[in-house]
Amino acid sequence: MTIADKQVVSIHYTLTDDDGATLDSSSGRAPLMYLHGASNIIPGLESALAGKSAGDQVQVTVQPGDAYGEFDAELVQTVPHEAFEGIEEVEPGMQFEARGPEGGSQVVVVREVADEGVVVDGNHPLAGQVLHFDVEVQEVRSATDEELAHGHVHDPDGGHQH
Ligand code: ZN
Repeated sequence: MTIADKQVVSIHYTLTDDDGATLDSSSGRAPLMYLHGASNIIPGLESALAGKSAGDQVQVTVQPGDAYGEFDAELVQTVPHEAFEGIEEVEPGMQFEARGPEGGSQVVVVREVADEGVVVDGNHPLAGQVLHFDVEVQEVRSATDEELAHGHVHDPDGGHQH
């Protein structure tokens, strides 16, 4: 069976950045399962896996536009210290949930604490990065009607993974 829309695909993968550093890997864990054609994974990886089958090895380089987007400098903002009232010490690397301009919530990371304010970054941590995936396809099966209706993979016992 080859990978196409409406199929459940299990993969083992290692994700490295442009410098060869490992960012994420399924090694030592259960394989990642996703529903093909349902935007469960980034577009650049999904399209590279189409037509492959169990046992295939796939190496693919994904540009930011087909991954987590370009780095957006407008998402880096300096906010007044008062916005962090009640937090004892604000330090670089801390994450906060902020309200976005459209009312949705957005995770921001503190980049710098300066006299004039706190520099926060709302970009996805992998925004702007070229990603290298090394994938081994483990299993390909047809999705159930219920999985197709929900748009995601269910456990073998019918439960939700998430
Ligand atoms: Zn479901």
